[in-house]
Amino acid sequence: MPRKLPLITAENAAFWQGGQSGRLMIQHCSACARWFQPPAPVCPRCNSLDVAPKAVSGRGRVATFTVNHQAWTPELTAPYVVAIVELDDQPGLRLLSNITVVPPDQVRIAQPVQVHFEQHEDVWLPLFKPLAEVGA
Ligand SMILES: [Zn+2]
Repeated sequence: MPRKLPLITAENAAFWQGGQSGRLMIQHCSACARWFQPPAPVCPRCNSLDVAPKAVSGRGRVATFTVNHQAWTPELTAPYVVAIVELDDQPGLRLLSNITVVPPDQVRIAQPVQVHFEQHEDVWLPLFKPLAEVGA
């Protein structure tokens, strides 16, 4: 059963398909030098049209998370972690995603994470996994 996928539009294509080249693409405003998400044709901060998707570091920290014990759709395997990840590139720049690779009991607040991608048809879902910690 395929995962329910986002509809690709001109605005969001870079975000959902950047993973094809291993890059997490976030909309960036050249006028105020800020990133914003979700992608839009106008900067929500300064109303500039001088916006375009650019690659971010792909690194961030778990801002908050919840463990879902119910697989709401058949293709999901419970339990799984739904998290808000704050990217290192800008305070407050947050994405809703999943923390994968490790079991849910190994996920914690403020944990450093790194993006990886899971391809489904023409979409590369940005997911996050814990960044290997120094000394670990
Ligand atoms: Zn702006």
